Amino acid sequence: MQAHPALVLNADFRPLSYFPLSTLPWQDAITAVVKDHVSVVAEYDEVVRSPSRTMRLPSVVAMRTYVPRPHRVAFTRFNVFLRDRFRCQYCGERFPSNELTFEHVIPRSRGGVTAWDNIVAACDPCNLRKGNRTDMRPMRPPAQPTPHELMAAKRLLPPNYLHESWLDYLYWDSELAE
Ligand SMILES: [Zn+2]
Repeated sequence: MQAHPALVLNADFRPLSYFPLSTLPWQDAITAVVKDHVSVVAEYDEVVRSPSRTMRLPSVVAMRTYVPRPHRVAFTRFNVFLRDRFRCQYCGERFPSNELTFEHVIPRSRGGVTAWDNIVAACDPCNLRKGNRTDMRPMRPPAQPTPHELMAAKRLLPPNYLHESWLDYLYWDSELAE
């Protein structure tokens, strides 16, 4: 009975998420069916019995109401700085956005790519000091943030902080080449 997870589809019958694939342990799937949160799309042969009823284990369930999918977080300078709270990831100081630059942790000359997990915010002095060195490590290992994490970062900033720093909206929010 351990390994009978149910694949969870959204109300449009596409998986609720792909990475990771949305599944529920069979106990939770049964609960969701009983509470009428999901409808059963397909079943395993195995059954569970309670004193009052016998139920086949659902193998695929679909949400009764549509769950909006989170938008992919765009890989932009603005979102990188937001993820890093407008702090240089080497000295830890907070800077206005026009005094920050984005910095390759593994230098491009050493094969470092321009991607969420290799780019951090850095102030100009730290950026210069770092150069092609690889022995300077950022405070936090960079990673792709979730939409939720970026929203949380936004809430930590004073009101209007972001707009004041938007010297060139199109520049800041244009996608970086990966
Ligand atoms: Zn710095």
